[in-house]
Amino acid sequence: MSLANRYNASEAEKRWQQRWIETGIYYFDRDDMKRPIYTINTPPPYPSGDFHMGNVLNWTYFDIVARYKRMKGYNVLFPQGWDCHGLPTEVQVEKKYGIKKSDISPDKFRSLCEEQVNQFIKLMKDAIISLGCSVDWSTEYRTMDPDYWGRTQLSFILLYDKGLIYRGKHPVLWCPRCETAIADAEVEHETRRGKIYFIKFKLKDGEHLTIATTRPELLPSCVAVAINPKDERYLGYAGREISAPIFDRKVKIFEDEGVDLEFGTGVMMICTYGDKADVQFAAKYGLPIIMSLDERGRMTDAAGKHRGLPMAEFRRAIIRDVREAGLLEKEQDLDHEVGLCWRCNSPIEILDKNQWFMAVRGLTEQVVKSTEEVQWIPNHMKWRLLNWATSLDWDWVISRQRIFATPIPVWYCSKCGEPILARADWLPIDPKVEKPKIDSCPKCGGNSFLAERDVLDTWMDSSITCAVHAGWPVKKDWKRLFPASLHPSGTDIIRTWAYYLMVRHLALFNEKPYKACLINGMVLGQDGTKMSKSRKNYVTAPEVLQKYGSDAARQWAAGGGSTGSDIPFRWTDVEYGQKFLTKLWNASRFSILQLTDFQETENQPALEVLDRWVLSKLELATRNASEALEKFQFNNALEEIRQFTWHVFCDQYLEAAKHRLYNPDVYGKGSRAASQYTIFKTINRVIQLLAPICPHITEEIYRFICTGKRRETSVHKLSWPDYDEKQVDNSAVKKGDLAIAVISEIRRLKAEKNIPLNTPIKETTVSSRNSETMETLEEMASDIKGTCKIEVLKFNSQEILEKEVVGFSEITVSIG
Ligand SMILES: [Zn+2]
Ligand SMILES: [Zn+2]
Repeated sequence: MSLANRYNASEAEKRWQQRWIETGIYYFDRDDMKRPIYTINTPPPYPSGDFHMGNVLNWTYFDIVARYKRMKGYNVLFPQGWDCHGLPTEVQVEKKYGIKKSDISPDKFRSLCEEQVNQFIKLMKDAIISLGCSVDWSTEYRTMDPDYWGRTQLSFILLYDKGLIYRGKHPVLWCPRCETAIADAEVEHETRRGKIYFIKFKLKDGEHLTIATTRPELLPSCVAVAINPKDERYLGYAGREISAPIFDRKVKIFEDEGVDLEFGTGVMMICTYGDKADVQFAAKYGLPIIMSLDERGRMTDAAGKHRGLPMAEFRRAIIRDVREAGLLEKEQDLDHEVGLCWRCNSPIEILDKNQWFMAVRGLTEQVVKSTEEVQWIPNHMKWRLLNWATSLDWDWVISRQRIFATPIPVWYCSKCGEPILARADWLPIDPKVEKPKIDSCPKCGGNSFLAERDVLDTWMDSSITCAVHAGWPVKKDWKRLFPASLHPSGTDIIRTWAYYLMVRHLALFNEKPYKACLINGMVLGQDGTKMSKSRKNYVTAPEVLQKYGSDAARQWAAGGGSTGSDIPFRWTDVEYGQKFLTKLWNASRFSILQLTDFQETENQPALEVLDRWVLSKLELATRNASEALEKFQFNNALEEIRQFTWHVFCDQYLEAAKHRLYNPDVYGKGSRAASQYTIFKTINRVIQLLAPICPHITEEIYRFICTGKRRETSVHKLSWPDYDEKQVDNSAVKKGDLAIAVISEIRRLKAEKNIPLNTPIKETTVSSRNSETMETLEEMASDIKGTCKIEVLKFNSQEILEKEVVGFSEITVSIG
């Protein structure tokens, strides 16, 4: 058997992907009590349908780890689920059908969402398979399935019983576009160019104070004005009454040290609610709450004649009113920070609403302690989680006013309002569809109940994955798989996913959810800026995979940069990856042809210097690649393997071994056998080392190269080679390096003189003043002569001839 002339990546990759699934070689064996377990907390992605280069980067990282750990003898759990619920799908469905969620029945809306999600799951699953990921597909789950969201509900009940979930009326961040509460973590901050308005507020005696605000639309909900007691401009104003213009509401002037003297005029308008400072101020002084904005971003009755206007329109109207009343002193351009909904990019508001909360702030100390215990790769990324956790000033609002999400398993007694929580054995349950399984309210005896209409934040689903992947609560032995060995996370979701996982598992089980956190950066475009569809730097994953195949794309992902850093997408990196595969393929083809009469035996033949030279270098590459993979330095591992394979093995060793392989009558059968042994050992080792990064081509080559009785069914079932110090022959390394340097120089000189490489040379003189070098060169003369086709090789230890060779100043080579 021999390899085809050209490697057909798209054919071979597809064939192996199918075979791996059919044979189930990546199956996690729960009953195996011998091998240690290694679990990867694979992110369940939002099925957006778009598997982009960022996903290629992430999944390549996960898969390299999974494959490497399997070879290291671990029983690896590499699960895959889909995080179906949530706003993105609802927003997409609304856009696709041109509707709002309230336009059709909840059931109909939910089924449109499910249909959408299923289509997208298929696309993304195909993409993960075509990247060659060694996922155990028997673990596949969808968070929209009752089996999954029942677990989310169970976690809700357990936390409620522990007093860590509560319901209350509090100010919450609100997206008027999505019409739902959102959490701090879901707000993106952006600096936008806006305007600041200087508006006169009148006092009783005809005097006025000027306040500067970027939010004139909040005038109807102005409940106070504040000044800093240190501000000498406003001495004597505290405690007086002042009138908010247009609506003519009399409010009090407060003194508070929190007022920023530098901002605007130093006089601050307190509203319900412009920002978190307003919320704090209102709570501190017990101010009234006047909501002027409703859930859909329209003005309430508080806006008087402008009631019902969308906020943006009202803003223009109120400025017109203020100007006409002669109260607008001036307006200026101003860059200021706005909070945006991370799903739909609309500015967020703050509304006072009845919501469910998880009491996360009380857990901060535990979160900090556990975060410090986790191994972070790279280490400095832990600060992103620590800084986030310690900066939280609000609890996590976990209820959402949406449809496509996990139902909150709660009813309310219609008589006394008592909340009735579902019991664990009722789950999964949708309170909007089923009644509580009790006869009467435990508090008042009433027998009619109202279902909770709100649903859970989608992060409530995905923040229990470490336990769910382990089998909680179904499998009794789930703690064997918990905490997860590795939690992979993008830099962009540390404050959400990594944090929520941490706080929820600690709250539920009093244990951290993961032992190590592997961070991947973002993928940048060719131009070094963030890759986005609106710029011209966007590249889709199918485009890359179809053109160059997975093994080439995975080399870009593994080698593009250090772990955790942002990585630019470069076509040249993928092309380089493909060239390397071609090189490996050609070398393997050549080797297999040379090995047709080779039999692997226990006895190692008598090796020559260059054999020991390449095997020593192979051993060192094995050591370096192993060390890099242990530290998750994929780029270093890949570089080590590629450098050895391409340059040391293909370009140097194979070229220097050809004369021995081709001419056993001249150089001896033993010499040929020694080289065959060396090639066999090297090729096998190289594909072992490369298997986690390039799983397809290594599998294809393994099929042909590995003859004999020790054959496994797949390269991916082999053990990772252990570094063996005894295999490194330092003297052979030194001698081989010298011989290879001379050979390279002779080849370079031939090229310089336009002599074809395989043209025989009559005479070459190598000169060196160093007697040790001379001795080595004489020992290596046969290899130099054979490789460079030299009839007469002379050594000259006295004088320097023609050329001084860079890097080896004591050696001079002349071609005669
Ligand atoms: Zn939104
Ligand atoms: Zn009751």
